[in-house]
Amino acid sequence: MTELLDLLQTHPLLFALLTGLLGLIFGSFLNVVILRLPPRLEYRWKQECAEYLDLQDDTSTAPPGLVLQASHCPQCHHTLKPWENIPLLSWLWLRGRCSQCQQPISWQYPLIEGLTALALGWLGWQYGPTISFLAASLFTLILIALTGIDVRTQLLPDQLTLPLLWAGLLFNLQNGFVPLDQAVIGAAAGYLSLWSVYWLFKLATGKEGMGYGDFKLLAALGAWLGWQMLPLIILLSAVLGLIFALLMMLFLRHDRRQPIPFGPYLAAAGWIALNWGSLIVDRYLQALGV
Ligand SMILES: [Zn+2]
Repeated sequence: MTELLDLLQTHPLLFALLTGLLGLIFGSFLNVVILRLPPRLEYRWKQECAEYLDLQDDTSTAPPGLVLQASHCPQCHHTLKPWENIPLLSWLWLRGRCSQCQQPISWQYPLIEGLTALALGWLGWQYGPTISFLAASLFTLILIALTGIDVRTQLLPDQLTLPLLWAGLLFNLQNGFVPLDQAVIGAAAGYLSLWSVYWLFKLATGKEGMGYGDFKLLAALGAWLGWQMLPLIILLSAVLGLIFALLMMLFLRHDRRQPIPFGPYLAAAGWIALNWGSLIVDRYLQALGV
């Protein structure tokens, strides 16, 4: 075991390749989470409501679980064979179409798999075989799952944002990314800053600009990266959101009234802050002559 660790420590490129491959497999699992978690949550909410209101229990069957049930083609329900379920390669091999019904397979699958592979490969290269690598990977995987779910359903489930927040605080308990006091203040300030924006906006316009999931996500980012990164994260996410909204309006004639989820921009800004946050802040302070 120690020999293997030594080998990986002395060959960072090998480790990055391995973590990239691992990223493909995790990306494939994230696709399942993104597709199956929201219907499962909705099913549970309905059951809880029925129970609370003393309504007759809904007898519809539960949506498929996250781990045990096999993958199917959503169009023809053909069960995928193992060779049709290889991350990225199967999609390329099948040229993005189901082997049975020839219907196109969503580009979400290869996109999430490729993105996860690149992100984990990069983290492997940056951190090497360390605890920090494991922590940064967990952070990244949950952010990708949240992004996918928010884009599809406009939800940021507590089942992901809250564990992300706790994991950040626990990791920073000792020798994490930032000292614990900065992490705790980061979590509280992250939540409160967006919460205040939300209420100011609501009092001023009577409309809701974002959801409570966004506050929890920024709290989680503060717990991982410390309160010092919050201004950068908010600024970056606003800029990313604005650029994307402009592109959508220019090229896709996106309806301005249609809500745009904010979670993906927060997640992207958080990931940028994890990797280059200190560098950006240092450069900025240098430019100011501080
Ligand atoms: Zn099919």
